[in-house]
Amino acid sequence: MGIRENLRLVLEQVAEAAKKAGRDPGSVKLVAVTKNVPVDMMQEAMAAGVKAFGENRVQELVAKHPRLPVDVEWHLIGHLQTNKVKYIIDRVHLIHSLDSWRLAREISRRAQERSLNVEVLVQVNISGEETKYGLPPGEVRNFIVGVAELPGIRVRGLMTIAPLVPDPEGVRPIFRELYQMAGWLRQELPGLPLDFLSMGMSNDFRVAVEEGANIIRVGSAIFGPRPNPRRDNHGEKIGG
Ligand SMILES: *Cc1c(COP(=O)(O)O)cnc(C)c1O
Repeated sequence: MGIRENLRLVLEQVAEAAKKAGRDPGSVKLVAVTKNVPVDMMQEAMAAGVKAFGENRVQELVAKHPRLPVDVEWHLIGHLQTNKVKYIIDRVHLIHSLDSWRLAREISRRAQERSLNVEVLVQVNISGEETKYGLPPGEVRNFIVGVAELPGIRVRGLMTIAPLVPDPEGVRPIFRELYQMAGWLRQELPGLPLDFLSMGMSNDFRVAVEEGANIIRVGSAIFGPRPNPRRDNHGEKIGG
């Protein structure tokens, strides 16, 4: 099946899941994950209506950026090394993977240099897997309070990566926990714009939408299996 047809199916399933949860399907933003996906396929996706792309590697984002129209929204969804912030700071719409104080400071510093306000999500390691990046849930509140003091960087919500399991029902509790955590944080920290929950990938986006995701990151369900699975680390620390 082609990209257009795959995309139609994904959006149909998003709409179904949203309705099931009593939500407006229009409230769910689709980020098409394009790691290892060539630019011509991205153009095809754009022609079919995709407006936002997610990359997990800085190098790939930087290489593709000049080859696509300026109104494309770029999302950095993978682990970001501090020394690479400078390459993407003026190219990204949203960084989904803020996971350390050091990285927050560097984003703030580089954003100030260029008079930018950079929007980020805090990556939370809900599942507690050692192989995953992200803050432990217990540290998130104080972390957000600290980042709120930094100029040039704005926390807009939370992101998590669920473990890859055969039955997506198995990760429903993880999505539910992130949703509840966001609700609690909004009460604890009123005035902070913690609007976004980035959760759900090809395997589990339906469940994520049912549990309140308003950003989903979907790759292979749109573009098919990636050509280079060895480098497809799904946000894991090892092998990346
Ligand atoms: C690869 C990746 C995705 C998308 O994975 P698919 O299973 O292809 O939908 C989403 N989020 C992150 C962080 C990824 O690395």
